[in-house]
Amino acid sequence: MQRIAILGSTGSIGTQALDVIARHPDEYRAVALAARSSAGQLAGQVGRFHPAAAVLTNPPEGFVGTNECQWSFGEEALLDICAREDVDAVLVAVVGIAGLPAVLRCIECGKKVLLANKEALVTGGELVMRAAKEKSVPILPVDSEHSAIFQCIQGRPNARPVRIVLTASGGPFRTWSLQQVRAATVEQALRHPNWSMGRKITVDSASMVNKALEIIEARHLFGLEADKIQVVVHPQSIVHSGVAFSDGATLVQMGLPDMRVPIAYAMSYPDRLPDVAPQLDLTDIGALTFEKPDFARFPALALAYRALKEGGTAPVTLNGANEVAVQLVLEKKLPFFRIASVLEAAMDRLPGQPVACVEQVYEADRAARSAAQEAARRWIL
Ligand code: NDP
Ligand code: MG
Repeated sequence: MQRIAILGSTGSIGTQALDVIARHPDEYRAVALAARSSAGQLAGQVGRFHPAAAVLTNPPEGFVGTNECQWSFGEEALLDICAREDVDAVLVAVVGIAGLPAVLRCIECGKKVLLANKEALVTGGELVMRAAKEKSVPILPVDSEHSAIFQCIQGRPNARPVRIVLTASGGPFRTWSLQQVRAATVEQALRHPNWSMGRKITVDSASMVNKALEIIEARHLFGLEADKIQVVVHPQSIVHSGVAFSDGATLVQMGLPDMRVPIAYAMSYPDRLPDVAPQLDLTDIGALTFEKPDFARFPALALAYRALKEGGTAPVTLNGANEVAVQLVLEKKLPFFRIASVLEAAMDRLPGQPVACVEQVYEADRAARSAAQEAARRWIL
């Protein structure tokens, strides 16, 4: 029996993880659930899954919990979950840099990390990977591309890949002209062709900032240099990513687009759970296609390589500026197309500085947010 805490249980990843747990009650138990402010939904999950603890970081006014489990509130309460004795593994599926302190707390307490939150590695990648190595804490990727890469390198301890093939669906604007992308609305950005996800990552997919974040995530998880990470646009989302070896072989992992597969693999690794998702029949799919990404229509991609080259705080700036820009786009205060402009302006303003401790990451995040707010003023609607 593995006892799992889910940070972000009311979200897209969190609810799918609970679905996997519900189908495997003998192997897994959700012992703690946490969300930001979705009190009604979290109370419903408490009633169904009977965790020992529930947390809301920003509870609605007057909400005091239910008497079915121990409730606590606030950001510190979220971190306390990671330290609980009855927790074996923590699925970190909150949005944004809020994932970073949680991942660090898990490592400190020796808890296995099932990592959906890519922003933790984008902002604190070096600190996280170093701490995990020192404490021998496994960081198991849930992001579908990184799970695919992780699956492709199993059983090959001495064969280091020479290249990562990071696939991208291309999002809703893949075939749009630059002129059309310039006029895209947030509603159009929220219509992802293949995946149903939270709002922030859906906007990130449309701008391809998601792929930019994933390049940085892959750099930290797998230790390959940025120029060995190739983005390949693959609109069917059947090939979830892969690796190339020096002999010319490329291995990829395929499946229908269903996040329950990478979630379950992180939970059950190195084993596989039965009946997690429908089987892929390649004859139903027919054709798989691959394209080079267009750096002109999707300038965020180049910013990821730039951030890795600058190093230190540069990826923190990219991420913090993006969190601000996406929020403004969702509030219809900034045109979708200006996301990359805000990121670039913040990065121009704040060149990468070395990072020695996590406080410097949080400081750089604050600086990135105010630089982004200021840059966005030029284009505010
Ligand atoms: P959602 O917006 O659907 O859900 C986010 C969850 O986290 C909710 O439970 C939300 O609570 C909670 N939450 C958000 N911010 C905070 C915070 N600051 N403190 C505490 N709880 C918080 O997001 P997704 O599930 O789509 O994404 C979660 C993470 O996983 C992201 O980092 C994303 O990039 C990554 N990911 C997601 C994929 C997907 O398919 N969805 C695929 C790959 C990676 P509440 O409901 O109360 O707001
Ligand atoms: Mg992904």
